[in-house]
Amino acid sequence: MTTFHSTRSSTDALTSKQAIRKGIADDGGLFVTDQLGETTVDISALAGKSYQQIAFDVLSVLLPDFGEDELKQCIAEAYGSQWSDERITPVKRLGDDYVMELFNGPTCAFKDVALQILPRFMARTTPADGDADEKIMIVTATSGDTGKAALAGFADAAGTGITVFYPQGRVSRVQELQMTTQTGSNVHVCAVNGNFDDAQSTVKEIFGDQELAERLAADDHVVLSSANSINVGRLVPQVVYYFSAYAQLLEQQVINVGDEVDFVVPTGNFGDVLAGYYAKMLGLPVRQLVVASDKNNVLFDFLTTGTYNRNRPFYETISPSMDILISSNLERMLYYMAEKDPRLITYLMNDLAQYGAYEVPPQLLAQIRQLFATGWADEDQVRQMIAECWRDNHYVIDPHTACGYFVMRQMPADPGTPRVLLSTASPYKFPRVVNEALGLKADGTDFECMDELAAATGTEVPAMLRGLESADVRFRDCVEVSDMAHYVEQCANRL
Ligand SMILES: *Cc1c(COP(=O)(O)O)cnc(C)c1O
Repeated sequence: MTTFHSTRSSTDALTSKQAIRKGIADDGGLFVTDQLGETTVDISALAGKSYQQIAFDVLSVLLPDFGEDELKQCIAEAYGSQWSDERITPVKRLGDDYVMELFNGPTCAFKDVALQILPRFMARTTPADGDADEKIMIVTATSGDTGKAALAGFADAAGTGITVFYPQGRVSRVQELQMTTQTGSNVHVCAVNGNFDDAQSTVKEIFGDQELAERLAADDHVVLSSANSINVGRLVPQVVYYFSAYAQLLEQQVINVGDEVDFVVPTGNFGDVLAGYYAKMLGLPVRQLVVASDKNNVLFDFLTTGTYNRNRPFYETISPSMDILISSNLERMLYYMAEKDPRLITYLMNDLAQYGAYEVPPQLLAQIRQLFATGWADEDQVRQMIAECWRDNHYVIDPHTACGYFVMRQMPADPGTPRVLLSTASPYKFPRVVNEALGLKADGTDFECMDELAAATGTEVPAMLRGLESADVRFRDCVEVSDMAHYVEQCANRL
């Protein structure tokens, strides 16, 4: 039996459905299963399979308490015609390397991969305590892209509501409009006076607030849950595209079954790259996972020194979705790397909460570094990479992908090991920065920048982004960090 418990204690034994419904453990830890890797995915049968078939192979191992029909329905609904490429996450050549596009979903964000299916998982879970009227309120803090993708996934989903907080003035104009124009009777969007870490920490506190939980259950039949990448149901769908990349490289005859591949991953909360680690544990031949950061290089420092220290300046950069000082999912990687010892994780996370820093033992660091390589790019380097990638490959990348491109170019290539750069956003989400980097006109509105970029590069503006110019803004609220819990309660009252 596959059961889930907190990274900080092994007493719980939840099914994957219960873990998905609950989101985060009561002690603040993240749900993990000790059975991960006991059953692997057959890579010899990957070539020629559709994304949906691969998704079924992978998800049935990771979420075994979902029925076969349930999983197939979830997959068919989540990875259908709302995607602009039938391969869902197409792998393309990029010079001597490869790029996997994760942004062809309905909101042009890589978060769509997970957030199109999470609401479908949730709809197939049932209340733990038998309260048939129970509804779920998703509460999420976003550094930009998660918010819209979550809103799109949960809009008008039966039995759920969603409240999204974003840091005021710290997401792009396009990202803000994507959220504030969201339709649906169960959605709430609110700006917060603070940065992403403030918002995310407060959301975690809201989840830990037992009095609030009791009031919501008694007054509104509402339980809170999370759509951030701390949710198991958000993490596991991301494992699929690593297998899909491998299948596509097999089909393109770049590799044979069993050959190793490197993945370069623009990283923030450590969800995307952690999914690559899960893929490896499920039997995918991954040689290296390269963690690419922006100027907020807390992960680079950790992976090179063994000390994680969030006491440092927070930079707002042109890659806002990677502007993160606490990478929540690192906790899961540490759990598995540290031989599944919840006491060590508790100790480290207490240090993080108390001192803002922790240090891992040297042998643990050495083990982590065997798999995880790392690098980071400053903003000038990001701009330069956008220009050089266009010059060298006639391929336009966004500022997040450009961090990864920089790190990939810095690393010595191993001729026998293909490298796949994960591209996490459409360049059209950051048209002003991209135009500046390419020497194109960048004054005008974001929409004028999009048109200019399309004309100059012969690429197409995604319709969902272009249409924002004329969409109605529905949400204009902005609250202090200290008022977020109260705001959630008001939204729950209206559910
Ligand atoms: C979320 C996001 C990332 C970071 O992914 P994590 O899973 O948080 O590491 C990188 N780039 C973009 C564009 C994103 O939206």
